[in-house]
Amino acid sequence: MGEFELIDKIKSSFSVPDGMTGIGDDCAVIPQKDGKDTLVSTDMLVEDIHFLADDISPADLGWKSAAVNISDIAAMGGRPVSTYLSIALPRSIGQEWVMRFIEGYRSISEMFGVTLLGGDTCSSPDKLCISVTVLGECAHGGAILRSGAKPGDSICVTGTLGDSAAGLKAILEGRRRDDLVARLIDAHYHPVPEVEAGLSLASTGIVSSMIDISDGVASDIRHIMEESGVGAKIHTERIPLSEELQKVCSLFGWDPISLALEGGEDYHLLFTCPSGSELPVKHTVIGEITDTGRLEWSDSGRNYQGFRHF
Ligand code: ADP
Ligand code: MG
Repeated sequence: MGEFELIDKIKSSFSVPDGMTGIGDDCAVIPQKDGKDTLVSTDMLVEDIHFLADDISPADLGWKSAAVNISDIAAMGGRPVSTYLSIALPRSIGQEWVMRFIEGYRSISEMFGVTLLGGDTCSSPDKLCISVTVLGECAHGGAILRSGAKPGDSICVTGTLGDSAAGLKAILEGRRRDDLVARLIDAHYHPVPEVEAGLSLASTGIVSSMIDISDGVASDIRHIMEESGVGAKIHTERIPLSEELQKVCSLFGWDPISLALEGGEDYHLLFTCPSGSELPVKHTVIGEITDTGRLEWSDSGRNYQGFRHF
């Protein structure tokens, strides 16, 4: 059973109270009495699956643990408010390491005006495990879900894609960290959640669906398709690529489109809106929503897959 089939099985064991949005989106949405909605998401980072403890610095890991969670609030067009941090620590990790981790966690929290309000600390037999929960808010009914995409809508992304995946590939291949490679590794270790872009896209009232790019466009567009009951066509020649990525790919013979679509962890936003819409946020139109129910690629020989656990 794959990751998403398993989540579906778990989902079917519970019913969701009226007015709430549960499993299947970047955050749960819970209406409050003050006319706002609370947004909640939780994300775990496990040593050797999400990070290599002997490569990433504690401060970078602290940054990234908070960043990937804040990004799920950005994906709803919400404002992050607070986080809760749980850590399971193997014996090899001491207090000094934890305080450097907290330094990175604090610097991104300050950047987004988010505060740490709780968590849990315990020991782990072997590997390091970090779980963060984030709370955010938006106006009642204002959250942008994965479920609103309509045939004919444009599919758009903020930012360039593939830098983070290329950074990871460079780490795994032990490439020399010259300036160019170091910038890609930095994109992997220091994602900046697109909170302001998400808020401004939500404020237009015309964005029909949104998700943050955590598992790669190839995987994340499938979530929008599934939740919205639509198909999609992606024009691979329109995928925005940074100059750094293009240079490194031609130097090392890597495929930039595969890194951009399958790699993930860019933490930019993927969203849909009526075609030809004027938007207040810099973006690239990479495709369109269709009524075929299928995912199509303009280079039709390929079928890109995003990251999946199991
Ligand atoms: P994201 O990539 O945005 O963090 P995921 O792909 O991890 O989202 O999760 C998809 C959806 O499934 C989310 O709504 C998440 O809350 C839910 N989910 C994932 N794992 C579980 C679980 N073990 N129990 C309940 N819900 C889960
Ligand atoms: Mg997400």
